[in-house]
Amino acid sequence: MVVQATLSWFTVAARDLPWRRAECTPWGVLVSEVMLQQTQVDRVVPIWQAWLARWPTPADLAATDLATVLRAWGRLGYPRRAQRLHSASIVITQQHGGQVPEQDDALRALPGVGEYTAAAVRAFAFGQPAVVLDTNVRRVIARACEGTALPLPHLTNAERILATTLLESASVAGARWSAAVMELGALICTARNPRCGDCPIRAYCTWYRTDMPDNAGPRRQQPRFAGSDRQVRGLILARLREGSMPTETIDLIWPDAEQRMRALTALQAEGLVVQKRGRYALPSS
Ligand code: SF4
Repeated sequence: MVVQATLSWFTVAARDLPWRRAECTPWGVLVSEVMLQQTQVDRVVPIWQAWLARWPTPADLAATDLATVLRAWGRLGYPRRAQRLHSASIVITQQHGGQVPEQDDALRALPGVGEYTAAAVRAFAFGQPAVVLDTNVRRVIARACEGTALPLPHLTNAERILATTLLESASVAGARWSAAVMELGALICTARNPRCGDCPIRAYCTWYRTDMPDNAGPRRQQPRFAGSDRQVRGLILARLREGSMPTETIDLIWPDAEQRMRALTALQAEGLVVQKRGRYALPSS
């Protein structure tokens, strides 16, 4: 019943996201999944649309220098994703004839593609019965089926087995079930304020029926962004997207010299920033 109720709800409530449309290519799906890994849908949509208009195939992105790619990534955050997507486009172009591969091992061999992203591409791009387990799906399953407020910090085999059982019980293509439960977690069964009153599976939800006990265990603390190295890295990259800068200008970006150097050193080690003749810049290739 959980599955059928979720699917019925999805039929009327699904958002019209561009990577869900029939005309979206496997490349478009892969780009969306990489962008969505740590960024909200609303921020991803315009960048994804501009990205696919500019680089409609992996070969188009592979032929572009990394600095241009990092500029186009804009403020989506975690720019190593852009770097890895660029590397993946080169692998796809050189080793897969420019076509996103369908097989799990080939997908997971691509830079930046792990278990989740490979499963999502297999399901949403190729219609394969892959078990797609992102944080939204895991939360819905934890609450509805196991009666716990949140899933464990790390994915377990028990969760994979349970998710596989649910997938197999869906009488529709696996991709539709995966998209439906993911949407339910994103729109209704949210982490902090689940809208149980609007939930299509309320009657079957174990956690709801047991009065929503606070049984999630110790919460993981979200690292603070303000004052973090991540903030410093973001400020440096934002300035470098406008052009190269001498060391003295970089020094003005952040007052703490030790933290500034730590961020710069890390960005250089990751290949996101280069230093040439006393100036810092985005890498050209
Ligand atoms: S009833 Fe509430 S807790 Fe249960 S799945 Fe729905 S929104 Fe989540």
